[in-house]
Amino acid sequence: MAANLCSRPVAPGSYRVTDAFWLREMDLVRREVIPYQWEALNDRIPDAAPSWWMHNMRAAARRNAMKRAGKPWQPAGSGREMRFETLPEKGQAPDPDAFYGFVFQDSDGYKWIEAVSYQLMRGPDAALRATAQEAVDAICAAQEEDGYLDTYYSLGLRERAFTNLRDHHELYCLGHLCEAAVAWHQATGQTDLLNAAMRFADCCAEKLGREPGKKRGYPGHEIAEMALIRLWEETGEQRFLEQAKYFIDERGRRPFYFDEEERERLGEAWGGPTQGSGYHQANAPVREQSEAQGHAVRAMYLYSGMADAARITGDTALRAACKRLWHSAAEEKRYVTGGVGATHVGEAFSRPYDLPSDTAYSETCASIGLAFFARRMLQMDPDSRYADVMEEALYNTVLSGMALDGRSFFYVNPLACDPEACKTDARLGHVKHVRQKWFGCACCPPNIARIVSSLPSYAMTQNEDTLFVHLYVAGETEVTLNGRPLKLKVEAGLPWEGEASVSVLEGSAEGTIAVRIPGWCRDAKASAVTLRNILTPGAEELAGDEKGSREKSGYVYFTGAWEPGDRVELYFDMPVRVTAANPLSPETAGQVCFRRGPVTYCAESVDNEAPLCLWRVDPAALTADPDSIRVEDAEIGGMPMKRLLVPARIAAASREQPLYRDWAPEETEDGTLILIPYFAWDNRGETEMRVWLHAR
Ligand SMILES: [Zn+2]
Repeated sequence: MAANLCSRPVAPGSYRVTDAFWLREMDLVRREVIPYQWEALNDRIPDAAPSWWMHNMRAAARRNAMKRAGKPWQPAGSGREMRFETLPEKGQAPDPDAFYGFVFQDSDGYKWIEAVSYQLMRGPDAALRATAQEAVDAICAAQEEDGYLDTYYSLGLRERAFTNLRDHHELYCLGHLCEAAVAWHQATGQTDLLNAAMRFADCCAEKLGREPGKKRGYPGHEIAEMALIRLWEETGEQRFLEQAKYFIDERGRRPFYFDEEERERLGEAWGGPTQGSGYHQANAPVREQSEAQGHAVRAMYLYSGMADAARITGDTALRAACKRLWHSAAEEKRYVTGGVGATHVGEAFSRPYDLPSDTAYSETCASIGLAFFARRMLQMDPDSRYADVMEEALYNTVLSGMALDGRSFFYVNPLACDPEACKTDARLGHVKHVRQKWFGCACCPPNIARIVSSLPSYAMTQNEDTLFVHLYVAGETEVTLNGRPLKLKVEAGLPWEGEASVSVLEGSAEGTIAVRIPGWCRDAKASAVTLRNILTPGAEELAGDEKGSREKSGYVYFTGAWEPGDRVELYFDMPVRVTAANPLSPETAGQVCFRRGPVTYCAESVDNEAPLCLWRVDPAALTADPDSIRVEDAEIGGMPMKRLLVPARIAAASREQPLYRDWAPEETEDGTLILIPYFAWDNRGETEMRVWLHAR
């Protein structure tokens, strides 16, 4: 077994996914989401909010051309004012030279290029590559002479660049640019976008840092931390790792930079020092932080960068902070759907165990961020508990963010939704009961596109001598163990069937293959896991310890010489699990939900009598007789899946009854409650939905 268990993800391009479940999602992104988003970035979708992405890039390129030609250039119209969102004046045509959209609008196109790059790694597509090249060229033309690249300031008051790192997302755009540039470089071998990213990173480093004369600033919206580390990994340029470490180390130190920055910006009008901003995870140095707090996406991105840095540097204090923050986010503040961020106020984490269903925020991007964080914790410490959460996020909230036809998206992912309430109740103003086509603040759809397109890098990580199989995604991959190539085949029926295998197709190598035993199986019935049939060509079936298998933290490590025909088979028991929450979670007291394998289920009123609050299930009876829950093949939106038929009762109710009465046993009738996977809700017209159901 390897002494150092740290690992890196396999390249998405080295893993040919054939998985029935994930291939559909990846192809959906390629066929529907990516072309649609390109139209959106170019403002060619008639009834959707304009993105302004290409508009802004082109305008910035014209500005640069004028400056190069020595012609005078002035910011146009609304570009003179610094607003968080800038739109054309009412009744007026857009000014072709003005910036429009949110301050972070540039990042939408970067995320799109990143997703396209992963798709190009899967298979070439000359037309798609040419379209992406158009986007890359537009970005490169928008970059200023000094490397600065943020159209919001380029088209506005450039002299105010780096004066509002807290709110104005320049470093967030830098982060997404780096992510896109690395993926584009890996997909195409081209250095155009990589150079643009390096130049902008250097431009930022010239202004920000510990050295005298620089501002001690750091990102208001994190992501640059992990992105610069990727840029370092791709280019080998140490300065990008140093820049990432600086951003991590400086965050939350006193005096608080965001206070200093505001004082400089506001002068006399400054209100005085604050206690630091928990919303930005900037009220204490990161190594002293213990509770996941503030804006959930920002938090997840920061913690992901911290985990990367801790892995690379071996910084034990940073690693300990990552573990504490993981515990807080994943064990005290996580929805059963793998969502995080319970309150819409600040799109933020709430108190431990405060996990309301109907007012949930649970932004798709935060769940994506939770998967980022989990994968990075796994890279540092292969413990199946991280993979369990990563898998839960991917199969539930991340996919819920996208309609089964790939044409509309959720930003907010509630665990209970009544369409009538959403239409009339201001407290639910942030919850949409149907997915939206495109939003001006379009963070989630391109984020789904990039994580789904890069799924293999969540399925497997490896180091010199060990390959870790975290998710069972059918496909073929080529890896190198101790310098020798191995071609592997993964077969899997997840999330519906509990069978998986890893077999060697070609090559021979010595080393370790570590396979994960999912928590949903381990916790259910350990004896149901069978590791067997490690075969060598022409040999009889050999015992599992032929390759010296041993189990640690939910992974079984097989070490030895691997030859074609060697195979590890796994059989996971997949009972329907009746799940209760920690009693400290007030929202879910007296309720249960249903899960099977990595999939969390929900009830919809298109299948069941409404309102869904009338349904009662009997957890004691259901767990005593698990076979009373039927698992049935179903299809929604053309996707085959399993639905659950749960014996239940429905309470008699009418408006004739008084609001309050002396307690007496409820009058109920027998019924069968139909549950579908949470990710598939809202694909059959307007419907009420509930994950948690009342127990009786
Ligand atoms: Zn989002």
